[in-house]
Amino acid sequence: MKVFSWKTKRLLITSGPTREFLDPIRCLTNLSSGRMGWALAQEARRLGSWVTVVSGPVSVPPPQGIRVIWVESALEMRAKVLALSKKSDVVIAAAAVTDWRPAKASLSKIKRGKKIFHLTLVPNPDIIGEVGQMKRKRKGDGIPQFLVGFALETEKLASFAFQKLKKKNLDMIVANSPASLSGETSRATLVFKNGSFRKLPALSKVRLARVIFEEIGAACQ
Ligand code: C5P
Repeated sequence: MKVFSWKTKRLLITSGPTREFLDPIRCLTNLSSGRMGWALAQEARRLGSWVTVVSGPVSVPPPQGIRVIWVESALEMRAKVLALSKKSDVVIAAAAVTDWRPAKASLSKIKRGKKIFHLTLVPNPDIIGEVGQMKRKRKGDGIPQFLVGFALETEKLASFAFQKLKKKNLDMIVANSPASLSGETSRATLVFKNGSFRKLPALSKVRLARVIFEEIGAACQ
């Protein structure tokens, strides 16, 4: 008999951007503020869950009392997430992982020059996709691991997000537009494994986090 209670759940959240270094002082990154990750962590804590956030560098400080593991690159984030995900009941990937990294990082500062500088980039691993491939089916209480991803789409929000959900073996995707990356609010559509979706109005990230947890709770009943 499965009984769902947030108080017995271990949550893992990825958050923020990653930094991919070209040399000791220059990197590729993006505008993720980490606000969504902090809002999710705060809500998980309010519900009484154990929560760990693996976060890239952000300027917005974490809420009090949250266990944060700080990382910089996607490869560092991957290592921490794969180690922690096995014991997590719910994994929420809110990080804006930088899609590529320089094939080779220089140990010393790359000198300025007048010639064209060619940079070779290699793709970073799909972290939540790997968690999806190893998805834990059952634990003692009979409730399967629940995986949530985020997706930024500029068009056909729900249908592109659903394709992503299938590819990564997720249970739910929070799809939104690029404007939500660094802003205070987000206008999201929640897309589920059975193909259904729920379009939400513009909400603060704290309010959106609450709706996301309500939906996860309902799906796990
Ligand atoms: O494929 P795309 O980058 O659009 O997928 C977004 C989702 O996948 C987000 O949940 C993001 O945190 C996660 N992701 C990841 N590792 C990557 C790229 C994205 O975990 N390398």
